[in-house]
Amino acid sequence: MNLFTLLDQAAARHGDRGAVYHGDQQVHTWAALRERALRLAGSLQKFGPGARIAVASENSPQIVELMFAIWAAECVFVPLNYKLHPREMGPILDDAGAAQVFASAKIGAALSGVTPAPVETIGAVEYQKRCTAEMAAVPRVTDPAELAWLFYTSGTTGRSKGAMLSHRNLLAMTVSHLADFDSPDENSSLIHGAPMSHGSGLYVPPYVLRGARQVVPASGAFDPDEFLDLCDLHPRCSAFLAPTMVSRLVQTDRDRPANLETIVYGGGPMYVDSLKKALAAFGPIFVQLYGQGEAPMTITGLRRADHVATQADGAGWAPDEVLGSVGYARSGVDVAVLGPGGMPAAVGEIGEIVCRGDVVMSGYWNNPAATLATLRDGWLHTGDLGSFDGNGLLTLRDRSKDVVISGGSNIYPREIEEVLLEHPGVVEAGVVGAPDEEWGEVVVAFIVGDATPEDLDKLLLQRIARFKRPKRYAFVDELPKNSYGKVLKRQLREQLS
Ligand code: AMP
Repeated sequence: MNLFTLLDQAAARHGDRGAVYHGDQQVHTWAALRERALRLAGSLQKFGPGARIAVASENSPQIVELMFAIWAAECVFVPLNYKLHPREMGPILDDAGAAQVFASAKIGAALSGVTPAPVETIGAVEYQKRCTAEMAAVPRVTDPAELAWLFYTSGTTGRSKGAMLSHRNLLAMTVSHLADFDSPDENSSLIHGAPMSHGSGLYVPPYVLRGARQVVPASGAFDPDEFLDLCDLHPRCSAFLAPTMVSRLVQTDRDRPANLETIVYGGGPMYVDSLKKALAAFGPIFVQLYGQGEAPMTITGLRRADHVATQADGAGWAPDEVLGSVGYARSGVDVAVLGPGGMPAAVGEIGEIVCRGDVVMSGYWNNPAATLATLRDGWLHTGDLGSFDGNGLLTLRDRSKDVVISGGSNIYPREIEEVLLEHPGVVEAGVVGAPDEEWGEVVVAFIVGDATPEDLDKLLLQRIARFKRPKRYAFVDELPKNSYGKVLKRQLREQLS
C-alpha cells in the first residue's frame, strides 16, 4: 500500500470539504488536493520510482500537495529543515542524491550554489505548469516496504544521517497515533506549529486519513499568539509541538481556546515543572510522545488521561514519576531496556532503550556502518538510557553520550536539570560533564537566569545526592540549541574544553 491511498480515500469521502488552509484561507478541498497532487506527480514520473525529491521550505500549504505528489509518483520525500544554513543543506542533498529540489523563494535563491540538483521555486511559473500536467494514475501496487521518506536526523550527536522510512513504517505510525493519542474526524484540524519537515509533517498522514483540515499558519513559523488565534478559527484543533513551544504558549498567559483539544509534545525532554505549568494553564489536553527519526513519533507515550491523577493518587495531576516519564509502549511497538551484555534489565535498572515493530526504519541511507551499529539483533538501539518500573512505565534518563561518569558513578544530567529548573531564578539549565583529573569527569551546570550558586546548591542538597551537585556553575545568556530547540550538549562540552 502506498501512502497516497490515504488522500485518495479522504477525497472520495469528503471531496467538497476544506482540506488545506493557509491561516484562515481555504486553499484546497480534498478533491482539489487529490487532483493537484496527481498532476504534480505526473510531472515527476520522469524521474522514475525511488527518486529522491527534496523540499526545502518554511511551513507552507504546498508541502502537503508535494508530499502526496511525491508518493503518487512512487518517489521519496526528502524534507529539509528550513532553519538549516544552505551550506548545511548541501551535504544532505548530496547524501540523498536528490533528483529535484523544490524550495521556497527565500531558500531557493541561496540553494542553487550548493547543489547540482535543479532547484525550482514552489509556486512560481514552472511549478504552476506542473500543476496542469497530465494526472498520474493512482499508485495501486506499491510495495509497502518501498522508501517513502528520507528523514534526516537533527544531528545533535554528529553528522546528520538519513533514516529510511517506508510506506509501511509511516502507516504503522499512523495507526498507532490513531489508536493511542487522537481521534480526529472531518470536523477536526491539525495546526502545523512545528516544522513540517519533521514532527508536524509526520502527522500529516493520520489527519489526512480522517479528513481533518491541514492548517498552515500564514507566517510559516511558530508564533504563539498566531497559533492560539488559529485555534479560534478552526474546529477541534490538534497540534504537535516541541516542549519549548508549549512553554511559549503558556507564557502568553492566554486562556486555552475552546477548540484546542490536543497538544502532542515530545521530541525532547519536557521538564516536570514546565509540564505542570502547561497543565495548569490549559488543562488535560496534553499527550506525550517519545520517538526518534528512526522510529518516527512512536516508541512510548503518555495519553491525556495518564497526566491526570487516578483515584488512588488523589486530586490533581499524576505523580511526578509519571509526568517525568516517557510513558508506556505504543500500540504495535515492543520496547525493552537492555542491561550489560545485552540482556533485559531488571525493573528499575538503567540500560539502553531498544524497540522493534513496523515503525522501525530499515536503516540509514548510504551508511551501512551506522545501520549495523543501530539495528542489531532485531532491535533498534536508540542510544537513549532508561528504566522500566513494574507497570511498564519507561523513564528516560539521558542519551548515553550525555551521561556524566564521575568517580565511577553514573550521573544523569536530566535529574539535576529537573531540580535546577524548579528554582524561580532559573530560566534554562544544561548539565554536562567536564574532564577532571581526579574524578574522570565532574558535573558542570550552565544556567540562564539570575539565581546564585549558593541558592542552587541549597536546593539541590534538599533534593538529590550530594555527589551529583555541580562542581561549577557557568552563567550564560542562552544555551546553544539546534534548529528544533534541542540543547546542544556537545557544544556545551566544547565550551568547557
Ligand atoms: P530526533 O531523531 O532528532 O527526533 O531525536 C530523537 C531523540 O530525542 C530521542 O532519541 C530522545 O533522546 C529525544 N526525545 C524524543 N522524545 C523525547 C521525550 N518525550 N522526552 C525526552 N527526550 C525525547
